[in-house]
Amino acid sequence: MTLPVTFDDVVAAAGRLNGVAHRTPVLTSTTADALAGAQLFFKAENLQRMGAFKFRGAYNAIASLDAESKRRGVLAFSSGNHAQAIALAGRLLGVAATIVMPSDAPAIKLAATRGYGAEVVTYDRMTEDREALARRLAEERGLALIPPFDHAAVIAGQGTAAKELFEDVGLLDYLFVCVGGGGLISGCALAAHALAPQCQVIGVEPEAGNDVQQSFGRGEIVKIPVPQTIADGAQTQAPGKLTFPIIRALVTDVQTVSDAALVEAMRFFAMRLKIVVEPTGCLAAAAVFARPPHIAGKRVGVLLSGGNVDPAMLARALA
Ligand SMILES: *Cc1c(COP(=O)(O)O)cnc(C)c1O
Repeated sequence: MTLPVTFDDVVAAAGRLNGVAHRTPVLTSTTADALAGAQLFFKAENLQRMGAFKFRGAYNAIASLDAESKRRGVLAFSSGNHAQAIALAGRLLGVAATIVMPSDAPAIKLAATRGYGAEVVTYDRMTEDREALARRLAEERGLALIPPFDHAAVIAGQGTAAKELFEDVGLLDYLFVCVGGGGLISGCALAAHALAPQCQVIGVEPEAGNDVQQSFGRGEIVKIPVPQTIADGAQTQAPGKLTFPIIRALVTDVQTVSDAALVEAMRFFAMRLKIVVEPTGCLAAAAVFARPPHIAGKRVGVLLSGGNVDPAMLARALA
């Protein structure tokens, strides 16, 4: 079985990220354990630089470019965490970053992305095609396009989160990971396979956006309409050409949780663990808080992927 990315790539990414990305803490809570009926280890990527694991993949991808590509700069299209990750990684590496965002993106996100020093190019969501615009810009300016998940160096970078988790807590029976386009879970599954081969990796998607669950069940990539969910980091329509074969080979199962369960989990993290976790970041936790019988009494890793939540959304969850 040859996969498009290997654990060696994850190890190389860890070398590039060493001293640059935070080695995020692993949190435990007896209250959470009682809720899940298992021993939980939360990998707190909400405390990563710029607030999400996406920094790992973005930095690894830019650091892996050749000197000429670095001189020309990089381009990404995203209105979420990937945009901020590319902007910050670009600044740290001295590589110019251009981010294509919709003109009606939340002002706070436009400002954060510009704040990290990126050039933001806006487009009209109603009349312009984002990907076409991004590709044209990349071509005209000779920029390297870095997609949010379907990219070998991005996948390898994301896998360093699980590598750290296994190094810090040892073997686990299960690892629950949220799934958007599958970059995070692909990298984490490569690390699990190498460092804890008995560990079962479980993907978790929002109920409304189960493109990967459907694809996993059918054995081929299924594309769905843009899902309506508060888990905005998982509003992807299909897994990627690189991520899907890795998921098929190394992931045990893909499950879903409701938006209501995500809000409940956000509240739990704020009130009990005193941490802010965004809705998408709660997917894996919400699945274990549902007490699936097979995890009873087991050692379970839970990836908390990010903490960038709109303040109004956080206030509603806490109210
Ligand atoms: C991007 C993102 C995800 C989904 O990651 P994929 O690699 O696309 O599966 C999950 N949580 C957060 C916070 C994200 O920013």
